[in-house]
Amino acid sequence: MEFDTIAAISTPMGEGAIAIVRLSGDEAVTIADKIFKSPGGKSLTTKDSHTIHYGHLVDPKTNEVVEEVMLSLMRGPKTFTREDVVEINCHGGLVSVKRVLQLALTNGARLAEPGEFTKRAFLNGRIDLSQAEAVMDLIRAKTDRAMNVALGQMDGKLSRLIGDLRQALLETLAQVEVNIDYPEYDVEEMTVPVLVEKCTWVKNEIIKLLQTSSQGKILREGLSTVILGRPNVGKSSLLNSLVQENKAIVTDIAGTTRDIIEEYVNVRGVPLRLVDTAGIRETEDIVERIGVERSREALRGADLILFVLNYADELTAEDERLFETIEAMDYIVIVNKTDLPQKIDLAHVKELAGEHRIVTTSLLQEEGITELEEAIAALFFEGQIEAGDLTYVSNARHIALLHQAQATVEDAIAAAQDGVPVDMVQIDVTRTWEILGEIIGDTVQESLINQLFSQFCLGK
Ligand code: GDP
Repeated sequence: MEFDTIAAISTPMGEGAIAIVRLSGDEAVTIADKIFKSPGGKSLTTKDSHTIHYGHLVDPKTNEVVEEVMLSLMRGPKTFTREDVVEINCHGGLVSVKRVLQLALTNGARLAEPGEFTKRAFLNGRIDLSQAEAVMDLIRAKTDRAMNVALGQMDGKLSRLIGDLRQALLETLAQVEVNIDYPEYDVEEMTVPVLVEKCTWVKNEIIKLLQTSSQGKILREGLSTVILGRPNVGKSSLLNSLVQENKAIVTDIAGTTRDIIEEYVNVRGVPLRLVDTAGIRETEDIVERIGVERSREALRGADLILFVLNYADELTAEDERLFETIEAMDYIVIVNKTDLPQKIDLAHVKELAGEHRIVTTSLLQEEGITELEEAIAALFFEGQIEAGDLTYVSNARHIALLHQAQATVEDAIAAAQDGVPVDMVQIDVTRTWEILGEIIGDTVQESLINQLFSQFCLGK
């Protein structure tokens, strides 16, 4: 494919030791050559691929020295985009890196759009769509586990599995064709068992994949967590000790449509997204103010509720209302202030909590926090995540497509079993093959591709 040469700052904006401006495209080396002077004076175009060079960037119009740099020269196809790539390592100041980019732009490069480097890697066939999406997940990964899932996907784990499923469907379709071509056999009799068997296998694999999706999604996006309870029970203290014990991860997703700052804490590999932490103090009277139904609405979207009670106080009507509000949700009860004399009726708490875990803490004396963390991890991972070498799906787009594929393959199986003519069944099988292809970008529309890549950060 033919593309112009793009350039962008590929490191975060801010002060650092070095920053990188990256160029990719047919003209990458010639543009770099126009603005780069090495001490030996030799042209970059004569240099070997995958070499690094020391020198200065000089504005060809004014002969002014702009920066002192190290320049990496990588010719396609063995590059991230499969095109010629030049990476200019310059000093990490904001002014410096912008001047370098400006120089590249005034000498023939075009400013890259968000995700355009990765998009080229996809369009040039180096990676498929699910691998490209994994690049973004990798950048955003908040925990080691999330990173491992993204790495696996980038490596093509999901792509290979999807490839196997599509291959099985294709073989089935081919088999059906062959049988149709030999009318001396009874087509239905020959074909239906094969169809049902292969499609059932595909269906089961899709179901297995979908079973990983809730964990995958948690790893990728974090659990949105709300700390709930009456005034003074220790909600802020709980938040503080979670943040102190576990390194808080503050992510600033710049250059995307979601220009927001989110706060995460990593609890045993489970990323908790502390939702609206500023609003925690506000939750205390929401039930009273707006009633059980409406407050349930307000909590909707939370994956986990940490419900704090006071050990040194009797249960109040408000506590009971809160229990009622969160009844259908995932929650853990935290009975706090065990260092003070007991007034709470724990048996009654157990009754109200039913199956839900109850942890006792004294946040003041830093007791019970480990148990709480174990309870959180157990609630979502039940120990299975580390054991298996599963392929995870975590991306909402992939999950939606897998659900569609499951529905169409089930239609195919039902139709085959009901004696629907084989060529009708073929339509559902073909459709399943197409839907699965959308995951890896084989059968996908250009508008979708543009939309996906635009979610990337600049310079990636
Ligand atoms: P919030 O209103 O629910 O956010 O509660 P805070 O976290 O602000 O805590 C209210 C008061 O209880 C503060 O004075 C805390 O120091 C105190 N507190 C929190 N946890 C404990 C505990 O485990 N034991 C005791 N004795 N006091 C606590």
